[in-house]
Amino acid sequence: MLPRMKPAAIVLASLALLGCTTAASPQRLASDAVIDAAERAPLDGYATSGRWNAPFAPFNVIGNIYYVGTEGVSSFLIATPHGHFLLDGAIAQTVPQIVANISALGFDVGDVKYLLNSHAHIDHAGGLAGLQRASGAAMVASAADRATLEAGAITYGPSAGMAFPPIRVDRVVGDGDVLTLGGVALVAHMTPGHTAGCTSWRMAVTGADGARHSAFFHCSSSVAGQSLAPEAYPGMVAAYRETFARVRGLGADVFLANHGDFFDLEAKRARQVAGDANAFVDPDALERFNGEMEQAFETELARQQAGGR
Ligand SMILES: [Zn+2]
Repeated sequence: MLPRMKPAAIVLASLALLGCTTAASPQRLASDAVIDAAERAPLDGYATSGRWNAPFAPFNVIGNIYYVGTEGVSSFLIATPHGHFLLDGAIAQTVPQIVANISALGFDVGDVKYLLNSHAHIDHAGGLAGLQRASGAAMVASAADRATLEAGAITYGPSAGMAFPPIRVDRVVGDGDVLTLGGVALVAHMTPGHTAGCTSWRMAVTGADGARHSAFFHCSSSVAGQSLAPEAYPGMVAAYRETFARVRGLGADVFLANHGDFFDLEAKRARQVAGDANAFVDPDALERFNGEMEQAFETELARQQAGGR
């Protein structure tokens, strides 16, 4: 007589016969030793002056969006009943803070299903390998930033050569692609310029007022010391200009970004603590930011074209 097996056991037994295993997770690109060393490395001058690793108490931004980053560099948890999204990994040294912040809010990093990245610079991608190790989550990235994430270093700009633990990219997204989880739909917006694969994300969220709002996580369109003339990568100037045009008029009324200074993190959080539950609803902020970035970009481009270095 054959032993009675539950359907799930039969599936597992069949997979085993086929040489598959459901237990083993895909290989990480960075070893434990590399990740551990990066998390313990001393902070460099950029990190110190930008307050990249300065602790910031985690809090609920609006709806199911939580801030779990530092004073200077953002990381957002988007919580759902079926697991979470985590957008941006800050620098490697910040990973223990991000994990602790997630716990302090009552969530478990092990429930993060998707890791997202605004762009592949060390201050937003440096901690992703450690967060992938901590969570087992699938890394989602744009095609154009994928190689940088998997190499653990960008080839252009001031942070070229500043290595970070490489991260395995599990899924590539393009403009308009949607990630869904637990009733949340995150829409990818390709906003290249700052990097070739700079990716912004947009989602609907319900505010404390019960109204629906549209949150936009901006990738950044700052020049940040990069060479525009000559271009740091082919098509860079056109990419910036397309991004300014794409973002203009989007109409998102919750503007969030990967550095606190971009979206007035501290002032808005202070207003929220003082009782304004919708402190992060700011219908003009995205448009204002886009306009300021565009003006700064054109000024810097003209300066560099005139021979300024
Ligand atoms: Zn950057």
